Amino acid sequence: MVPHGPSVDLDARRASPNGATPRCGHLDACEPVPPGSAVCRECTAAGTEWADLVACLSCGWVACSDDSPERHAYAHYEETDHPVARALRPGPVWNWCYVHRRPV
Ligand SMILES: [Zn+2]
Ligand SMILES: [Zn+2]
Ligand SMILES: [Zn+2]
Repeated sequence: MVPHGPSVDLDARRASPNGATPRCGHLDACEPVPPGSAVCRECTAAGTEWADLVACLSCGWVACSDDSPERHAYAHYEETDHPVARALRPGPVWNWCYVHRRPV
C-alpha cells in the first residue's frame, strides 16, 4: 500500500470544495487591490476602443482585456509579472491567471 509518490502537486492539494475550478496559487497569494480606474488609460490616451476591461489584482491597474485590440492587460503582465486580473464587467467575479492561462 504505497500512497502517491512525493511529487504531490500543490494545486491538487488545494482543490476547491466544489471541485469545479482547480485552485490557482497565484490567486491565493494575492491580496486583491481595488481597481484604480474605470478605463484603460493607455487606450484612452491613444483613442483606441476596448472590448472589456480587467483590473490587476496585485496593484489595481486597469487595462483592456485580451479581447481588445491592444491587450494592455497582457502587456501589463509581461512588464510586471503580476499574474491575476479580474474582469470589471458586471456579473459573477471572473479572474484570469496569465501564468496558468485560464480562468481561476
Ligand atoms: Zn495561476
Ligand atoms: Zn488598452
Ligand atoms: Zn499589476
